[in-house]
Amino acid sequence: MALGEFDLIARYFANCGPQRTDVRVGVGDDGAVLAPPLGHDLIAVVDTLVEGRHFPPDSPPDSIGHRALAVNLSDLAAMGATPAWALLALTLPAANERWLEQFARGADRLLRRYGVALVGGDTTSGPLTITVQLLGFVPRGLALRRNGAQPGDVVMVSGTPGDAAAGLALEQAQLVAAEDVAVALRQRFLYPAPRVELGVALRSLASACIDVSDGLGADLGKLCTASGCGAELELSAMPLSGPLIAAVGRARALQLALAGGDDYELCFTVPPTAFSQLVELARVSSTPIARIGSVTERSGVVLRDGATVTQFSARGFDHFR
Ligand SMILES: [Mg+2]
Repeated sequence: MALGEFDLIARYFANCGPQRTDVRVGVGDDGAVLAPPLGHDLIAVVDTLVEGRHFPPDSPPDSIGHRALAVNLSDLAAMGATPAWALLALTLPAANERWLEQFARGADRLLRRYGVALVGGDTTSGPLTITVQLLGFVPRGLALRRNGAQPGDVVMVSGTPGDAAAGLALEQAQLVAAEDVAVALRQRFLYPAPRVELGVALRSLASACIDVSDGLGADLGKLCTASGCGAELELSAMPLSGPLIAAVGRARALQLALAGGDDYELCFTVPPTAFSQLVELARVSSTPIARIGSVTERSGVVLRDGATVTQFSARGFDHFR
């Protein structure tokens, strides 16, 4: 990539995202100088998206910009963090102005929605790869962790998992559905909505939290392993969306919800005593959350379907991925 092209790329990000007063030095020096609020812990997350691996080739550029931010916002949400600052490393096969403009627009929308300032970046030439680092903060000691679930806690999930996996299958022409259903599901893959407000609200309520990126079953399994416990999920309680059931039927919808991935919902546990508080919180914030099971002493994730109980294993679901 010629030297002038780096300047060109920089131009598309000059006005990306809002300004913040806690940015002492932003883009333009060797490093950003940032002022975290007193009495808070800094939370740092980073995620890379590679074309052909994390999104299909020729995805809409604004969707790629959106997702690069959303996957990181989702990790911050899982920690209960308030997002503040972002750094962007962009590897591009060529400086395509139309692509850059749309990518920056997708990123800008989420940066402004959550008040996150872009404080640094880097560009280089190569296969399309986007790395975003996000920094956020929580009042000292209040970060949500994966390791605090206790037997008897209630297992919850936000939104309707499985939609994004069906959306990706539609994008890749591995699934066919009626137009309105297809549009709704595609949207869930291309423009996931990170649960930032829910994560912040859960700081004082949840005993453990994880964001669902690799499938609800696998991610709940990680939470359980970190907490030294297990979980039992009630399949009849799984929140499945109308479009998902319309597209693939209830049985496959359940499989996609458990093993699909790319949902960026929050899966979390709360002590039974905090449940009513949680229901009120969900009502006030109009965030859809569902009670899907309970934490058990025995390790592993089991699925209860009426009287039938089976062990969840990601491998058993691999062929649906
Ligand atoms: Mg995560």
